[in-house]
Amino acid sequence: MRTKAFQQFLAQITKLTPTQRKQALDNIKKMDNTEIVEDVLNTTDHCHYCGSSNFIKWGLNSNIQRYKCKDCKKTFNVLTKTPMAHLRYKEKWNDFSKDLIDSKSVRDSATHCHISKNTSFRWRHRFLKIPADIKAKHLQGIVEFDETYFLKSEKGNHHLDRKPHKRGGWAKQGLSLKEYTPVLIARDRNGNTADFILEHSDDGSIAQVMLPILDYDVLLCSDSKSSYKSFANMFDFTHKYINASDGEHVVEGAYHIQNVNAYDSRLKRWMVRFHGVSTKYLENYLGWMRMLDRESDITSKDLLGHSVGRN
Ligand SMILES: [Zn+2]
Repeated sequence: MRTKAFQQFLAQITKLTPTQRKQALDNIKKMDNTEIVEDVLNTTDHCHYCGSSNFIKWGLNSNIQRYKCKDCKKTFNVLTKTPMAHLRYKEKWNDFSKDLIDSKSVRDSATHCHISKNTSFRWRHRFLKIPADIKAKHLQGIVEFDETYFLKSEKGNHHLDRKPHKRGGWAKQGLSLKEYTPVLIARDRNGNTADFILEHSDDGSIAQVMLPILDYDVLLCSDSKSSYKSFANMFDFTHKYINASDGEHVVEGAYHIQNVNAYDSRLKRWMVRFHGVSTKYLENYLGWMRMLDRESDITSKDLLGHSVGRN
């Protein structure tokens, strides 16, 4: 629009009724949303079938750029083979991403985006599926680790305030360890975080998830749980442990588990708002929290990018 025409357009705005003003604003917002989503949907750097970067543009389909891979000869778009494929109402995806950044409930997102509660629930897990896999692949230096526990549940995220002891289980609620899903959280001093839902709370299970991501010369810090000691011993890691039962929080100077404990507290506080997370989806919630922790200034566009597999 030319400057003069735009000035005239602005002058007209003052004549809008409140209802018209709202309609105009809604339309502008819709255009912004569409633009952001289309930006995400029209950029890719690899073939979604073979990973090759040797591809060419191959026309548009429903406003989404298609590509043809010159290596595997297949055609694809950004959504191909992602959990986001075939989801509808793309103009609402940007608002929905904002809601994920704001950690809104399924119900609040549904109201905000004018979608049903079922869609809101389904979208949440589609949007989070790929981000949930993004975790630190490499921890170095001082690595703190600890377990936290979630009640196994179709729907329920009741947390334990403290670690259940091997003997006696969780006496207060009469629940045994079997009824909890252990989650191991490991974090280095650069804030790189990885967490793992463990099959069992033992040294073997810990080794299975930790060995692939630990540098050989890391220094491990944890509490004095016997499985932690035996894991560190078994693989010759230097290990400083804290006797929490003695009220000891720091062994020597830098050797403490305050970072991992603080992360665990944030995770617990954050989870409370969902009033129940089923074990089946726990992985997605853990990944969601990691993403918010890792990228404190994440935008809805970044989040959409992650949802279609972009780092
Ligand atoms: Zn290909």
